[in-house]
Amino acid sequence: MASIFTKIVNGEIPSAKVYEDDLTLAFLDINPASRGHTLVICKPELPSLLDLPPDLLAATTRTTQLVARALMAALEPDGFNILQNNGSAAGQVVFHYHVHIIPRWHSDRVLTPWRPGSASPSDLRDTAALIAAQVSKE
Ligand code: AMP
Repeated sequence: MASIFTKIVNGEIPSAKVYEDDLTLAFLDINPASRGHTLVICKPELPSLLDLPPDLLAATTRTTQLVARALMAALEPDGFNILQNNGSAAGQVVFHYHVHIIPRWHSDRVLTPWRPGSASPSDLRDTAALIAAQVSKE
């Protein structure tokens, strides 16, 4: 079954569109965390960051920067968050790759997607070594 975002791409359900090109689409989140909360999607229905070929990743990132610039000029927030969820454990609900642009004002309550933890220098070194060894195989 097509994702809700594919239905938006196909015009089967409405959206508050802010930008569109051949590969990407940007529209307002229906349940905004703040005024102007925008989603940038790639049109092909691919579930996560791990699935995007380089051209699609580049196109989505370009659109994210373009829309973020426009949003900063149009709504004049004090800053913005980029959030991108992969997997249900990370809070992903729609399994069609998308980037959240969330405008922020100093008067907002602080957005804390995680609580800072702690790790010893040797934990950090060991974990980095595990990831770095895998990076070299990618
Ligand atoms: P995520 O948790 O990263 O998968 O985020 C999915 C987002 O899609 C949520 O913030 C929803 O509010 C948003 N969303 C779901 N359906 C629609 C829709 N029809 N139009 C706009 N945004 C939507």
